[in-house]
Amino acid sequence: MRFASRSNPGHAVSFREALFSGLAPDGGLYHPVERPNLAALFASFDDGTSFQDLASAVTAALLAPEIDTKTADRIVSRAFSFAPQLSRLDENLLLLELFHGPTCAFKDFGAQFLAACMEDFLQGENGRIQILVATSGDTGSAVAHAFHGRANIDVVILYPSGRVSELQEKQLTTLGGNVHALEVMGSFDDCQRLAKEAFQDPRLRGALRLTSANSINIGRLLPQCLYYIFAATRRAALGGRAPTICVPSGNFGNLTAGVYAWAWGLAVRGFLAATNLNDVVPVYLASGSYVPRPSLQTLSNAMDVGSPSNFERLERLFDGDWRSMSAAIRGAAVTDGRTLETMGEIHAQHGVFVDPHTAVGCAAAKDLLSADGTLEGEQIIVLSTAHPAKFMDVAKEATGCEPEMPERLARCLELPKQALEIGATLPELSRFLLERFG
Ligand SMILES: *Cc1c(COP(=O)(O)O)cnc(C)c1O
Repeated sequence: MRFASRSNPGHAVSFREALFSGLAPDGGLYHPVERPNLAALFASFDDGTSFQDLASAVTAALLAPEIDTKTADRIVSRAFSFAPQLSRLDENLLLLELFHGPTCAFKDFGAQFLAACMEDFLQGENGRIQILVATSGDTGSAVAHAFHGRANIDVVILYPSGRVSELQEKQLTTLGGNVHALEVMGSFDDCQRLAKEAFQDPRLRGALRLTSANSINIGRLLPQCLYYIFAATRRAALGGRAPTICVPSGNFGNLTAGVYAWAWGLAVRGFLAATNLNDVVPVYLASGSYVPRPSLQTLSNAMDVGSPSNFERLERLFDGDWRSMSAAIRGAAVTDGRTLETMGEIHAQHGVFVDPHTAVGCAAAKDLLSADGTLEGEQIIVLSTAHPAKFMDVAKEATGCEPEMPERLARCLELPKQALEIGATLPELSRFLLERFG
């Protein structure tokens, strides 16, 4: 498979090139150029196929000859020490739990795969690369954990001082080794600006091999298709019916990966894109008019995105045709009040805690089931994007109880914070980078 940007479709690059450059030279996002038909491969998977075996087979099918079967096995075994789990809430609703990775959120799938691929491509090369990421919380911890201990790679995380939760800060700052946390005296926007300035700075570019690992990297997006394939091929669990998949969405990377899997032949009835009040995509799906706007703050804060970057990829996948996109994807927006209510309901009815992002998806799925009488026997799988214990205060408010803290989170809260404070200026960041890696 090769990749190109929308404005320059004739200039297709390899997976390796797309992985290390992040963005195309014209500043656009990389899209897959081909649309392979993998329906026969997907049909060969069933309840007996492990996530790891499925992941290797799909990776090799998508990325051969660049990544052959043996390499795919190696990358998958270094990326995924965890797997998704499908669990049933009631006769119509299932959860696909994506929070069994090291940082307890679905972003572990993309970050771990990206890191394992980069490590594999760099094998046998001299010199190291430096991954530089700005984070407002969850993305940074998934990236930090994914690259921790990988050969030939250093990671520098910029995070805004005092503006991430205690748990998020501990997840970013307690790894040590090749992970360097910089606590920036400024806002998240300052962190993003600093990272951008560093990538453009000629002196740093000359002295270092700076690489980004942000969410628009195709190496993070592509592996997210794997758990959709896993879920849709649990045939016994689904009673043999093709499911509808509901995706709590913010920047729309997760949904885009699912729609890729569908375009490549996965048997899915359709998608439900669930957002909080940042609903530019649901509005587009209902009306055909796309109007990005500044983001609003909500309880499901990892989805507070007013201008989702991956909308461009979705549009391209449907050749800019609103009708075909809205035939495959329905949209729904959910308020904070409804999110809390849904967390409470699910806990009371099923004894299950869901995090606020997953609750947005559950509310949208419940609305669809009760609004549409034709959905008799429908199976809706809601992607459960984070462990509820990551949002302890909201869970407590919604249910009156506390979800159990997974041991890996509890352990990280006990470790000492190791971070270097810097001012929000390029000279301070440059000094650190050059002294450390120059
Ligand atoms: C990032 C994130 C989302 C949104 O995913 P997108 O790919 O940006 O749409 C949803 N839930 C959680 C917990 C997240 O961290």
